Amino acid sequence: MRKIILIAGHSRSGSTLLDRLLGEMDGFVTVGELRCLWIRGLHEDQLCGCGTAFKSCGHWRDIVADLPAAETRESWVSRVLRLQRLVEKSKAIPLLLNPSLRPREFSDQLDEYKRELRSLVSGIFEKTGARVIVDSSKKPTYALIMKELFGDDVHVVHLVRDSRAVAFSRLRTRLRPEIHWMKKHMAIGNPLRTGVEWRLANSVLTAMHDAGRCTQLRYEDLVERPRATIAGLVADVFAVNPSAVQVPHIYAGAAELSMAHSVAGNPMRFATGRIPITLDDEWKKNLSRMRRNVVTLLTRKQLKQYNFI
Ligand SMILES: [Zn+2]
Repeated sequence: MRKIILIAGHSRSGSTLLDRLLGEMDGFVTVGELRCLWIRGLHEDQLCGCGTAFKSCGHWRDIVADLPAAETRESWVSRVLRLQRLVEKSKAIPLLLNPSLRPREFSDQLDEYKRELRSLVSGIFEKTGARVIVDSSKKPTYALIMKELFGDDVHVVHLVRDSRAVAFSRLRTRLRPEIHWMKKHMAIGNPLRTGVEWRLANSVLTAMHDAGRCTQLRYEDLVERPRATIAGLVADVFAVNPSAVQVPHIYAGAAELSMAHSVAGNPMRFATGRIPITLDDEWKKNLSRMRRNVVTLLTRKQLKQYNFI
């Protein structure tokens, strides 16, 4: 039985941590943020999680080499990127939620994009022999598309983190090691914008959850009880008892992680060995009162809904 676990949510919600913890399970393979394969991997040649430039990584070269393409590699990449921009943009949310509203042109573009995703996912299953692919692409519109494409074979996990913690995290400057040809930092977001984006991303995923199309998980609960949370999630995917799920790589407050060929994600995707799992709640001390109030005001309804306030 082949399954995909897709982690969806706003950026800086702990998706790379969840991805890595799941990816260590027996028979699982993590691909990181799969939707970034065309832009960050094939177009920009950023670093794979193994530390090699993407186009030189044998793992991905094998998978991509077997994908059917009627055109040259460059025009294939450009075509998929164009489709991705058209069907994954925020303005497409109503169309993705309501197929009856879709104009013919949009349906055709979506079908074309879905064919590319299906082909890529099949290639990963074939080449890796894994029974579960862990994809931490995050983007809600991508989650809607993957659910429409794979139905019950994709298990979408809506990962949510306190909006104030996300806003604080987006104010930090962090180097992006995957951009190996120059020094580049992760984008900084102002708290007002982060609040608006967090609200939109989580609204779409809550609508999916309310329609019975995904499960919900709080980052804070994952960090507090990583072993039980991962066992529970895997048990949910395979409809078995959590006590039957072996999680030998997670200990109290830490996990043992091996190298993963991830396309994109937080810099912790490069970490291997014993990795501490601790709650990052520096925002409670260091996020200014004004910024905290702005984000709380913008996201109050959902903060209550997810039991953060
Ligand atoms: Zn690699």
